[in-house]
Amino acid sequence: MTERSSPLLAALMTTDDRRRCAAIGCDERIPPQLLMCRGHWKLVSRDTRQRVVRHYRIGQERRHDASPEYRAAAAEAIRQVAELEGRALPPDLVA
Ligand SMILES: [Zn+2]
Repeated sequence: MTERSSPLLAALMTTDDRRRCAAIGCDERIPPQLLMCRGHWKLVSRDTRQRVVRHYRIGQERRHDASPEYRAAAAEAIRQVAELEGRALPPDLVA
């Protein structure tokens, strides 16, 4: 699986100054420390948003060392948005 095909991996491993929103099918460009654009972030449950924020470490997207807790929270956020928008999940995000 390539980085490009996985929204989660793309969200975890960017080296660009701006990257795409992690929500499936969204092309919004956002700062690399954010997971999703404002519109998609609002669709994520409060609990999951708090987990993503709590486990984020500054610069992890450049060091490629996001913690397992962050990866799990980010995957959950992407799943929630995909479900609300009726989008199919890529294999690495199927629970
Ligand atoms: Zn978005």
